Amino acid sequence: MALYVYKFGGTSVGSVERIKSVAEKVKKVHDAGHQIVVVVSAMSGETNRLVALAKEIQVQPTDREMDVLLSTGEQVTISLLCMALHSLGCDASSYTGGQVKILTDSSHTKARILSIDDSRIKAHLDEGKVVVVAGFQGVDEHGNITTLGRGGSDTTAVALAAALKADECHIYTDVDGVYTTDPRVEPKARRLDKITFEEMLEMASLGSKVLQIRSVEFAGKYNVALRVLSSFKEGNGTLITYEESQMESALISGIAFNRDEAKLTITGVPDLPGVAFKILGPIADANIEVDMIIQNIADDATTDFTFTVHRNDYQRAKTLLDQTCIELGARKVTGDDNIVKISIVGVGMRSHAGIASTMFKALAAEGINIRMIATSEIKISVVVDEKYLELAVRALHAAFKLDQGAES
Ligand code: ASP
Ligand code: MG
Repeated sequence: MALYVYKFGGTSVGSVERIKSVAEKVKKVHDAGHQIVVVVSAMSGETNRLVALAKEIQVQPTDREMDVLLSTGEQVTISLLCMALHSLGCDASSYTGGQVKILTDSSHTKARILSIDDSRIKAHLDEGKVVVVAGFQGVDEHGNITTLGRGGSDTTAVALAAALKADECHIYTDVDGVYTTDPRVEPKARRLDKITFEEMLEMASLGSKVLQIRSVEFAGKYNVALRVLSSFKEGNGTLITYEESQMESALISGIAFNRDEAKLTITGVPDLPGVAFKILGPIADANIEVDMIIQNIADDATTDFTFTVHRNDYQRAKTLLDQTCIELGARKVTGDDNIVKISIVGVGMRSHAGIASTMFKALAAEGINIRMIATSEIKISVVVDEKYLELAVRALHAAFKLDQGAES
């Protein structure tokens, strides 16, 4: 007998028919003698619909009321799923996040889970019931309803799996696993059988939007075996785990990319202590997130400084930097918001030389100019012109033989 936490995303519960088929799937596992906790999202489109309703009434509703509103989406799904289970003769009860209870801090719309009281769930599981929990929500110490940020049901599922020491946490979604890259860009992309938490974090933060990043952090921290699978297609999906042994032969696990980047450069900056802070201080104060940062070695006592920001923040960042340019007596500010970042990710990089040169060679062969380069322990990122995105991803996919699959 195993204990599973299953999470079904919005599309998987997007209609009455789909809720019924989720119930059938759950019943099968339950009938096989396993204990099962099901976490569900709101029906697809519902959270967006609620956001739109709020905006029709108030441009800037309070976060507290937004949470009261948004949490209703998941409450609809838990009750409908329980009804579907009941009609199959399967004993089940639904709970909101507050009822469980999932205690969070008070940062409305982006709350963090502090603790979970698992006694009620355990008692029901021991009675042979299926327990259905609303994803994405909790309650703070004052009893206010909170939500965990968009995509937060993933985190609810992982947190429950950690609290209950579940054998596995399954995230059922509309894709059948984690791919070597986005199949819409490279049709030869292949589903990975396994990926490490670290790699998944890089892939997720780089824009492979399969899982909420926080859920992966949580799973890594508490060592929750996390599996991403399709709710529509049979298969084993992708297991996200610590084990690296079977993946040793794969140098690179995947290629992630981010189209939402823009870069800014300030040239002729006096090369003095405190300059980097003077450049990035106002950007940070404006709450603009900076990603890559590059500063050149100074030549004539001045230096060039380049960094990237989200494309939506480009104009704001540029205005701030123009001001800094005047204050520092720097030469000029240039920028480009038609760039993308492409990264190769893999734990195999730690123990192998020559990965970067393979990457650069593949890009050179296609005549793609690299504008920026950054590396970390398990990834190498390049910034290139937007028009090269598809070409670059495909060239790298081929260069690292990702379509062939180093693993079993
Ligand atoms: N319903 C919420 C959202 O759309 C939470 C989730 O689906 O995970 O973001
Ligand atoms: Mg989701």
